Amino acid sequence: MRTLTVDLLILGAGVAGVYAALAAEGEGARVLLLSKDPLPSGATPWAQGGVAFPRDVADLEAHLQDTLRAGRGLVEEGVARSILEEAPEHLERLLAWGLPFHPEPTREGGHSRARVRHLGGDRSGLLLLRGLLARLRSPVLEGHLAVSLLVAGDRVAGAYVLGPEGPLEVRAGAVLLATGGLGRLFPVTTNPPGATGDGMALAYRAGAVLRDLEFVQFHPTALPEGSLVSEACRGEGAILVNALGERFLPRYDPLAELAPRDVVARAVFLEGLRTGGVFLDLRPIPRLEERFPTVVAQARALGLDPLKEPLPVAPAAHYAIGGVRTDPWGFTGVAGLYAAGEVASTGLHGANRLASNSLLEGLVLGQRAARAALASLAFPKAPEPLPALTLDPALLPGLRRRMGEGAGVLRRREGLEAALAFAEGLPLEESPPDRAARPHLEAGNLALLARLLLRMALLREESRGAHHREDCPGEAEEAYHLEARGATLCRVPLGV
Ligand SMILES: Cc1cc2nc3c(=O)[nH]c(=O)nc-3n(C[C@H](O)[C@H](O)[C@H](O)COP(=O)(O)OP(=O)(O)OC[C@H]3O[C@@H](n4cnc5c(N)ncnc54)[C@H](O)[C@@H]3O)c2cc1C
Repeated sequence: MRTLTVDLLILGAGVAGVYAALAAEGEGARVLLLSKDPLPSGATPWAQGGVAFPRDVADLEAHLQDTLRAGRGLVEEGVARSILEEAPEHLERLLAWGLPFHPEPTREGGHSRARVRHLGGDRSGLLLLRGLLARLRSPVLEGHLAVSLLVAGDRVAGAYVLGPEGPLEVRAGAVLLATGGLGRLFPVTTNPPGATGDGMALAYRAGAVLRDLEFVQFHPTALPEGSLVSEACRGEGAILVNALGERFLPRYDPLAELAPRDVVARAVFLEGLRTGGVFLDLRPIPRLEERFPTVVAQARALGLDPLKEPLPVAPAAHYAIGGVRTDPWGFTGVAGLYAAGEVASTGLHGANRLASNSLLEGLVLGQRAARAALASLAFPKAPEPLPALTLDPALLPGLRRRMGEGAGVLRRREGLEAALAFAEGLPLEESPPDRAARPHLEAGNLALLARLLLRMALLREESRGAHHREDCPGEAEEAYHLEARGATLCRVPLGV
């Protein structure tokens, strides 16, 4: 089998992976990136709204307060503050590199003022990633799937990889997971097909802790097949109406269309049930085609014309708030293993992500994790791959349907229990990594994550009971981080 040795192996070539690679190669490290799909891959090139940067020192405090408010008592304030404090340095660098940020920030839901910087109208993620890839000197192996991690004792030391020319063993002084989210666990999602939670499953199996998995953010306004209508549209004047033509959001929240995402998603879901549908009217936006070319093109591809009629919209699974628990430098607690971007749970988002804070987190944590990983390199002899987890992919549609019914925008205990019973009945198998094919591996990863997510969601339901009060610090009496270690789930009170 082919074997490669590098200092830092980065799984994923979205914003977090590529920015991390740029930081690491700047320090002279030998870096290799893998992307299971052709570039530009991942959710990053699909991002429309932009990157949230505090406008100035005074705005930093306001940005922090908006982040804390959206996160519903679970944001780790120190982590959030440090990320926002570091943000201007990254914006300056990106501008110096010639990235075409629009000079005027826009406003998105949950933000008390305009501070989201977009690129190319609604092509923010694509232009950001292209700009980063253009500077990258390290190789990216496209179409290469990380099947399992190589371990030596309790240290992660590389990955077993399937590529177009067969298997490949990459040995590395450290591995950085930047594999993105798990939206494909749900029947309707804004996420790309590769968002199957691979990095979370790999990390869990290597002994890392997964936290808050059940906090999946639903975007309130997706078109029927899942493509996103950016929140920035509402920031620029679009309004939501129900099937009776009534504007309903002011009844749910004083911020109306600009309320935080969870509020808008629930309202859209409930009004859809009550009246038979919800529509987003983009016609109030001046120069709609110029400002939101992607949205207009996606609607037209479905035979809809946003210049003439409101678009049918519904909530869709959008962002994995939980993930591999890391410290503020991206360290997972397992020697040799780091994580950054959507795969990670740093504490920035709490229970609910503030719009456009995720690309910012990918930049800041990508750089930090790369630097921390380089400070910890070690090359144990003869690491072995862990077995792969696989499932027949024909069983996935059934799982997705139950996830939608049981763990969607409105979750009920019975639905969660039914979905968990189904997920636990799935015949997950451990197989040698050289026998794992991509669809079987992705299905296996999703099934594992479904089990953990559903168990966490049920535990969180239980933890609302008064009998858990004594575990709850101070005012945050419902605030728990649910974590999974090995095969057991345990609750850890906030701040511990
Ligand atoms: C439609 C949409 C719009 C969004 N808009 C915004 C926005 O405006 N602002 C904002 O801040 N956030 C936005 N988000 C969220 C944001 O885009 C993502 O959270 C962020 O881009 C994730 O970046 P990442 O680098 O962590 O992962 P990704 O960009 O998802 O990249 C994942 C990478 O991992 C690779 N990979 C995965 N598994 C494997 C494996 N097993 N082996 C090898 N490679 C693997 C993939 O090929 C890919 O290269 C949006 C998300 C979506 C879906």
